[in-house]
Amino acid sequence: MKIHFLGTSWAVPSKDRSGTSIYLENHGTLLDCGGDVAQKLIKMEKDPLDIEKIFLTHEHLDHLYGLPSLLQVIKLLGNKKEVSIFGPTDTIEKIKKVTSLFGLEEDLKLNYTSLDNREKEEQRVRGEIEGFRYTKVKHSKPTLAYRKNKVTFSGDTSYSEELIDLAKNSQLLIHEATFKDSERKKAKEKGHSTPKEAIKTGLKSNVDKIALVHTNSQLDSDELNKKYKSIDILAPNDLETIEI
Ligand SMILES: [Zn+2]
Repeated sequence: MKIHFLGTSWAVPSKDRSGTSIYLENHGTLLDCGGDVAQKLIKMEKDPLDIEKIFLTHEHLDHLYGLPSLLQVIKLLGNKKEVSIFGPTDTIEKIKKVTSLFGLEEDLKLNYTSLDNREKEEQRVRGEIEGFRYTKVKHSKPTLAYRKNKVTFSGDTSYSEELIDLAKNSQLLIHEATFKDSERKKAKEKGHSTPKEAIKTGLKSNVDKIALVHTNSQLDSDELNKKYKSIDILAPNDLETIEI
């Protein structure tokens, strides 16, 4: 499977990095939609019309602000296929408002699926759709992690046993690491993780590799691999690809 890291930053972009978005090329699927996704696909010589499914982890703006412009590009390029958008109920409701506000549903076939419901908010949420397994993780808004075959994506989360279950024996865990190890308290308060916590999840899940994304600075993977020897740690930059 080819995994393209279109965006790897947390909410504040840097000169070279912007909002988190990951493209699973073989499945025509985007995981979250931060940054100028269409431009990044084009830079990587990928066709925006190949996007068939978009899985959103939660409603925070940095994970979905690229969606309206991507849909506009798909519309202008003349897509005749359906684009399916999945996510937690509140996320889907927000996206429906945005797409209707900008008239994006004209000439586009958009299919929305809500993957949880508010009545069950305090309960464990998990399921499977279109070959993607999902589970609720721990963040300040209802948030889902997704898994396709041997690749798991955490969404925004603090340390979560549910995520460990979902990621069990994955070949690759793409995990957020928003705050530095020295900011552990702040990370927990805000529903985020540090590299150390993400790596702990990776080790407990017995994954082969962990890729740290949604970071507030570019991490040094050599330094991390020296520090944590029992797992292969990647710190991808925007526009990087890995194949597993
Ligand atoms: Zn968030």
